Amino acid sequence: MSCITCNSTTTPTMKDFQSKNIFTWCTNCGNYGIHTALRRALVSKKIPACRTLTCFDIGCNGNGSDKIGGYNFHGLHGRSIPLAVGAEMANRKVTVIAFGGDGGTLGEGIGHLVHAVRGNYNITFVLHNNLNYGLTKGQASPTSKKNMKMNSSPDGATSELLHPAKFVLSLESTFVARSFSGDVKHMTKVFEQALDHKGFSFVEIMQSCPTYNKETPHEWYMDRVYDVESIKGYDSSNREQALKIAQDQEDKVNGEAREGDLGQKIAIGVLYQDKKSVPQIDRQPNRNGSVGTKIKTDAYEETKQYNISKLLEKFR
Ligand code: SF4
Ligand code: MG
Repeated sequence: MSCITCNSTTTPTMKDFQSKNIFTWCTNCGNYGIHTALRRALVSKKIPACRTLTCFDIGCNGNGSDKIGGYNFHGLHGRSIPLAVGAEMANRKVTVIAFGGDGGTLGEGIGHLVHAVRGNYNITFVLHNNLNYGLTKGQASPTSKKNMKMNSSPDGATSELLHPAKFVLSLESTFVARSFSGDVKHMTKVFEQALDHKGFSFVEIMQSCPTYNKETPHEWYMDRVYDVESIKGYDSSNREQALKIAQDQEDKVNGEAREGDLGQKIAIGVLYQDKKSVPQIDRQPNRNGSVGTKIKTDAYEETKQYNISKLLEKFR
């Protein structure tokens, strides 16, 4: 893939995605592995930094917005998805990746997630799920386990947790994957598949947060994760099977298995993919050849084509 501005066809390298800024995450934070894996996936897919836009919101993940090469946008809390969707519709020559935490995405910004999935916009979304609001010092988030003792709820969180993968699978999504921040190789593979997908790619990364989430540290995940590829006959085009796998997490409470909580085994990998997925832009026949050609146009080309001064007059 050539450079969008200079047309250079130099193969991208890890260095292109590096930044001179100093990381501010805590020691052993899962965010380091996530960034490394994403860079590796972009390089292996030969996507140049000048064709990459990463969108971030507020949160610990957002502190990575100036630590990665390419174009970056650091927006409001829970609002990285609408930024990314707008950018992708405006200029599809750029690969758009959005990041969000469990608090911002499944709390404040959950409406954006729902409608981006429904619209099947062609972006990759990476959910940093560390089961808490880390940047604001360890409050319970929508994915904190019930009874988990957090700084905002010292007696334990009182709400039921929300399962991200299960929730997104229920929305007629076209790509749902899960990985773990301690396995860079696995995350890289999942990101590569997400970048290849035509439509909204939802990737949940179960991220360790050694500072505030003491219940599910790195080792806790290590003991539980298994790849769906190890399941004989697993069919990632079967949504019912994916839903079952997404909720195979059980916890023992008083010796009894309790469904619906984080627990004994957690499937990672591509849980579901619709390989016939039609992204939003291809659902808009009116944009077909709107600048006199038969190819799809981008918003920035269309705005050059139309004189909207008369329309604007009406609003004076
Ligand atoms: Fe990472 Fe948690 Fe520290 Fe935030 S608070 S930087 S998520 S370890
Ligand atoms: Mg979080």
